[in-house]
Amino acid sequence: MPDIFTKEKRSSVMRAVKHKDTLPELIIQSLVRDMGIDYEREDYVFNTKPDIVIHDLKKVFFINGCFWHGHTCRKGKLPETNKEYWENKITKTRKRDRNNYKELKSNGWNYLVIWECEIKKKKLDLLINKIERFLEINPRIQKGYLNKEIKSKLQEGNKL
Ligand SMILES: [Zn+2]
Repeated sequence: MPDIFTKEKRSSVMRAVKHKDTLPELIIQSLVRDMGIDYEREDYVFNTKPDIVIHDLKKVFFINGCFWHGHTCRKGKLPETNKEYWENKITKTRKRDRNNYKELKSNGWNYLVIWECEIKKKKLDLLINKIERFLEINPRIQKGYLNKEIKSKLQEGNKL
């Protein structure tokens, strides 16, 4: 059977299939898109691969899972079993994160970290404000940024 895709197209399709966006990623993408901003997802900037990259503004978003990136919230608490193992693993991740942030900053890029625990229906206004401030766009009062699909997903019991 002939390959209907060019090599380039195929690899981009394969990438898209392989990477399934998590709900937090979908929500942030939807917000940014609805703010009228063009972005790339999972694109390299130097050696780091942020979740959302806005080349025009030299701004990126990291959407960090609280556990994996060692947030100070309840979700970031380490389990009692294998504590040492997790501590090592997460310390390494945090170190890598810091290096990535430093590299971006020193090259004139700005980044915003969004924690998984910030993405909650009842905290949505705060999150939208935070994103607007970071992107330096005027708040669009009364404009619902989230599309229906995402809203209904959020309504399904806040499960992220
Ligand atoms: Zn958290």
